[in-house]
Amino acid sequence: MKADNKRFWAGDNIADYIAPSDKEHLIEEATKAFEQVLDTLLIDRETDPNSKGTARRLAKMYFNEIMAGRYDPRPDATSFPNDSEDRYEGMLVVRSELRSMCSHHHQPVVGVAYIGIIAAQHLIGLSKYTRIAQWCARRGTLQEELANDIAREIEKATGAKDLGVYIQAVHGCCENRGIMAHSSLTQTTVLKGAFKVDAGTKKEFFDNIKLQQEFAPR
Ligand SMILES: [Zn+2]
Repeated sequence: MKADNKRFWAGDNIADYIAPSDKEHLIEEATKAFEQVLDTLLIDRETDPNSKGTARRLAKMYFNEIMAGRYDPRPDATSFPNDSEDRYEGMLVVRSELRSMCSHHHQPVVGVAYIGIIAAQHLIGLSKYTRIAQWCARRGTLQEELANDIAREIEKATGAKDLGVYIQAVHGCCENRGIMAHSSLTQTTVLKGAFKVDAGTKKEFFDNIKLQQEFAPR
C-alpha cells in the first residue's frame, strides 16, 4: 500500500489489497499480538478460563466484525431503473442503525443514520442503504468522516445528487472513560444538492427525521 501511495488509515477501505486467504493469516498474526498485550496487562491467559481464547476472539472480532468495513468490498447494490412515466420523484428517508468504533480509543460508537435522497434515474433496494451505511461504519471512524463516507457511497450507488445524511450517536470514549458523560449525544449532518440549497427540501428532510423518531425513538 505504501508503494502505491494508498492511504490505509483506520477509516479507509483496503479491500483491494486483501485476498480472502490473507484474512485468516492476519487473524493469526493479530492473535499473537493480542496475546502479548494480555501478557503485558498481567492477565493469566493460561489458567483463567475467561481469558484463554480472548486473544483469538479479539483478532476475529476486529477483522470480521467491528472493522470488517475496512477489509470487505462494498456490498452489492443492484440498481433498478426509475425512468418510466410514473417514476417516483419524491424524497426517500431511510433510518439505519449504526455500530462503529472511534479511531482514537477503539471504543464503540452506537447510533443511527438517517439517509435522505431525492430519487434519481435509478433506485436501490431499501436494505442496501443500511448495508452501505454499516459497511462505512464498521471501521475506526470519526463521526464527521463517517457522515461524509456514507453520503459519498450512497451518491455512488444511487446516482442521486440531492441527498442528506444525519447521524446521531453516543460515543463510548465519552461515556466509559475521560469525561464519563452518560447522556452525551453527537450529531453530524452532510447535505448536498437541493438538501443544501433549497430550504423546503431541507425542512422536509428534518421533518421526516422527526416523524421517524416519533415512530421509533432510540
Ligand atoms: Zn474516542
